[in-house]
Amino acid sequence: MNQALSTANGGLSPELAQKAAVAHEALRDAIARFGDVVYSNSLGAEAMVLTDIIWSRGLPIEIFTVDTGRLHEETYSLLDRLQRRYGKRITLYYPEASRVEGFVARNGINGFYNGVEERMSCCQIRKVEPFRRAIAGRKAWVTGVRRQQSVARSQSDVVEWDAAGGLHKVSPLLDWSDQDVWDYIRARKLPYNQLHDRGYPSIGCAPCTRAIEPGQDSRAGRWWWENPDSRECGLHPRIRVTGPATAAAVSPATAVSAAARAASST
Ligand code: SF4
Repeated sequence: MNQALSTANGGLSPELAQKAAVAHEALRDAIARFGDVVYSNSLGAEAMVLTDIIWSRGLPIEIFTVDTGRLHEETYSLLDRLQRRYGKRITLYYPEASRVEGFVARNGINGFYNGVEERMSCCQIRKVEPFRRAIAGRKAWVTGVRRQQSVARSQSDVVEWDAAGGLHKVSPLLDWSDQDVWDYIRARKLPYNQLHDRGYPSIGCAPCTRAIEPGQDSRAGRWWWENPDSRECGLHPRIRVTGPATAAAVSPATAVSAAARAASST
């Protein structure tokens, strides 16, 4: 690549610079159309790209994330590095203490291992409720959803109505590939979760996530002790790619909140 061109593009190839410009434009359009736009930052790889586009270009979008209280130390380290890089703060939402105390009193400190019901209850308390609180009353929220990630997502639009959340959902990275995301992270020298280098493509809470083997479904390390059909937070679609963009697993749980996806992707 021409070095001068790369430097002019902030280290990005012309193709990636164009994709970033399209994503930037989608965010600007959302701000113009909805005014009150928030970004639910999962702290995953896509989140590094979106955070960079929002903060380095000065877009007036509040960024929040849900701290379940059970995240990996590497995730907290990333959060700290991310904020230091831009000199800005991500708004943190926490579970309601009384509900966590009640869950632990009933089920034990690691009660989510007791069964699917207990696990989903924990996800509801630690992830979904704080997420819902974060988007309540907002006009639109931004996600890092990409078409390549699942069959359901392959049919997404950049702007959709999220009926469950009662607001619009904006997905500026829909047409980005895995390669695009990682090329952007490397070109821009962005921080990312070190667990990605240790076999964790999808990172959630520490007790509920483990590394996967080469060739496994990217979400195989999430709630690994459960039947694959139940491995979701309980509120988002179970239609997803189980191999390299091929087979889909579909559950009856179709009446679920796409909005909760962001919370469950942490
Ligand atoms: Fe609880 Fe595990 Fe869900 Fe985190 S991922 S909220 S620890 S059940």
